[in-house]
Amino acid sequence: MQIIQPNKCRSEFELVIIGGGCSGLSLALALCRLADKPDLIPSTLIIEPRPCYTNDRSWCYWEKEDKKNSDLVRKKWQAWEFSSNSISYRQASKRGWKYHYVPAITFYNSAERNISLNPNLTLLKDSRVVDVNPQDNHIEILIESCSVDNNIKTEKVAAKQIVDTRIPENVDVSSAVLKQIFFGFEVVMNKSHRFPDVARVMENMRVDDKGFVFDYVLPIDSNSILVEFTRFAEKSLSPESLRKDAMESLRRVCGGSGYHIVREEYGMIPMGLRGKLKPKDARWIHTGLGAGAARPSTGYAFKRIQHWADRCAERILEGRNAHGFLPDNPLLMWMDKVFLRTIANNPAIAPQLFLSLARKVSPESLLRFLTDQPTMRDLLAIVLALPKLALFHSALAQIYHEIRAINWSHA
Ligand SMILES: Cc1cc2nc3c(=O)[nH]c(=O)nc-3n(C[C@H](O)[C@H](O)[C@H](O)COP(=O)(O)OP(=O)(O)OC[C@H]3O[C@@H](n4cnc5c(N)ncnc54)[C@H](O)[C@@H]3O)c2cc1C
Repeated sequence: MQIIQPNKCRSEFELVIIGGGCSGLSLALALCRLADKPDLIPSTLIIEPRPCYTNDRSWCYWEKEDKKNSDLVRKKWQAWEFSSNSISYRQASKRGWKYHYVPAITFYNSAERNISLNPNLTLLKDSRVVDVNPQDNHIEILIESCSVDNNIKTEKVAAKQIVDTRIPENVDVSSAVLKQIFFGFEVVMNKSHRFPDVARVMENMRVDDKGFVFDYVLPIDSNSILVEFTRFAEKSLSPESLRKDAMESLRRVCGGSGYHIVREEYGMIPMGLRGKLKPKDARWIHTGLGAGAARPSTGYAFKRIQHWADRCAERILEGRNAHGFLPDNPLLMWMDKVFLRTIANNPAIAPQLFLSLARKVSPESLLRFLTDQPTMRDLLAIVLALPKLALFHSALAQIYHEIRAINWSHA
């Protein structure tokens, strides 16, 4: 195998997006949607290691009416359910909130189609960024691509600015307060199932010797179901280690036969990343999961990424620098930290915690909280619904932790 290092930049771009995953492609789609004319989009290169996209995940989120992504949404549920032991609470919104489901492949295909229609956007697949070097007038990016004869070809490109969606080197995902690790299967039943048309977002919440677990069950249509086994853990675990549990969850929900598995879905989402990301260069911004895309207390990231992509695209189209995530509401983030700490320290009470929220908080308040737009009344309703003593201990522990962190940084 031969590696040839170029010493000159072969091409120049206004913008380079590192990573054609959810954040990178969302930004490209937002640029296409928001530009008055296609040629107003700055010359953009998106670099992605995957040679082709597969249906590797599904994105779900709560929304009232998602006109922007309506062609991507495969299914919407009007009701969702939380359950533990034999108790279950079903919620539905009077104000039109629904739980939306977007298969990743629909999103990837739509992004590829839109990019191919715009001459200013280029998606370079089967290629990875191996080095980034800011210079005075531009940033140099070294890219490795696999060539047809199996040699590794490297090339240098120059960019005025970079949006980097990789996990930054100085972000330690394993230091997140909790990790949401999941493994699941989409199955097609031999005949129509009789499950109610409800998204079972936290089903059969329970605690085993390693902590809090639950199943995630989405009846996608009359024959297809997604069943995922999910664990909240302090330690990082490989999603593959959950395969056996996921098979058991599948058997519990669908029985031992009468279906076939059409795809697998797994992942690990850091909840409550510690530390703040300090950008080294205003022309090189970080975004995505490693830069706080996931809401700490839930791990939901898709809507937050869409929101960021729209704001960022607007700035780029105005000729300004791209920006990362804007700071979240500090009170909300503090509540998330206390909530996560409570679950990390007392996994046994986690089922009761989520059931209390489903039982005592109105769907509207809970959804505004989950989608980053709570009012003070919503926040109060959430606090009042939760077990006070455990929350109080965690709040004290969080304050102590923050004071220590401040002293540490001063020292
Ligand atoms: C299976 C799964 C299901 C999920 N479901 C939901 C959900 O239902 N709702 C929700 O809100 N969130 C969900 N999430 C969380 C979150 O929305 C996704 O993880 C989302 O893909 C995060 O977007 P991202 O851009 O940060 O990362 P990615 O989508 O992973 O994009 C990062 C990209 O960077 C590329 N890359 C890596 N290294 C390099 C390199 N050296 N050079 C160039 N490119 C590189 C990767 O190939 C990848 O394409 C889910 C996550 C997973 C894994």
